[in-house]
Amino acid sequence: AKEKGGDRFSFYEEGMSSETELRLEMENQLRHAIDRNELNLYFQPVIHLQSNTLRGVEVLLRWQNANLNNPGPDQFIPVAEQSGLIVGIGKWVLENACKQIVSWSKSGLPQLTVAINISAKQFTDGDIVENVRYALQQSGLPAAQLELEITEGLLINDTPEIRDTFAQLKNLGVHLSLDDFGTGYASLSYLKRYPFDTLKIDRSFVHDIDSCNDSVTLTNAIIAMGHSFNMTVIAEGVENLNQRRILRERHCDMIQGFLYSPPLPAEQFVSWATRYAEM
Ligand code: C2E
Ligand code: CA
Ligand code: CA
Ligand code: CA
Repeated sequence: AKEKGGDRFSFYEEGMSSETELRLEMENQLRHAIDRNELNLYFQPVIHLQSNTLRGVEVLLRWQNANLNNPGPDQFIPVAEQSGLIVGIGKWVLENACKQIVSWSKSGLPQLTVAINISAKQFTDGDIVENVRYALQQSGLPAAQLELEITEGLLINDTPEIRDTFAQLKNLGVHLSLDDFGTGYASLSYLKRYPFDTLKIDRSFVHDIDSCNDSVTLTNAIIAMGHSFNMTVIAEGVENLNQRRILRERHCDMIQGFLYSPPLPAEQFVSWATRYAEM
């Protein structure tokens, strides 16, 4: 089956599973998502635990596509990765997120760091260093305010090219963050070999920290280890005050989660941040 022009779904093969069809349909629609203005950046606050102040945001992508029932990133990011579309989409996210943060700091919001999720494909198939350099230069965002979130998946094939890319990114002055820490393999050796500034504790550990002693022990160990490598430790998925209290007692640096706010569209984020500052 071959794609014919236009955006009509024209793949078809006898016996093709509906899951495959959905994937191809999604890929086909995703190809036009930027042109059609269907992608939106959402922003989730990141809070400094000791001072309770707003320090930054994590950018989370949303796709408004009624035909596909507004799929979430867990559905469309894998399709974007497999098809290679993530390279263009990732570039769009970088550029627009940097511009947004600069426009907020001009309008009087505090200086925020911006954390952006980067897929392994953007390292291996795109020119991530050039994309980051361009996004910084075009927006005027100071490099130190940009944090790139990377998962262990990228590091599994530990190649000289990837290490070199990391070094170039560090040279630009951006921060590197190891996302979903604890969910992959051989995590410990990566901490030593790669220049991460930040460690993000996966929300599966945070989730039962208030009911399960083993999770507390693990979280404790992750925080201590992060600090011994001079990294900032962020806990994600904090939903209640009990979890927050435990993380604070264990000297976790930052937290984010529904306890403060879900990811919000730009305008709503500004209202949230304004109200939060007045609290
Ligand atoms: P992630 O980077 O681990 O992002 C955290 C996810 O947890 C987000 O899901 C966020 O909405 C959700 N979350 C935040 N606080 C809480 C909480 O208190 N409780 C619960 N239950 N969930 C919480 P989301 O937005 O659906 O994103 C899913 C994943 O999609 C992200 O996981 C990330 O891997 C990927 N993703 C999102 N945006 C982008 C992007 O721009 N580029 C790339 N490459 N990946 C992205
Ligand atoms: Ca993330
Ligand atoms: Ca994460
Ligand atoms: Ca994740």
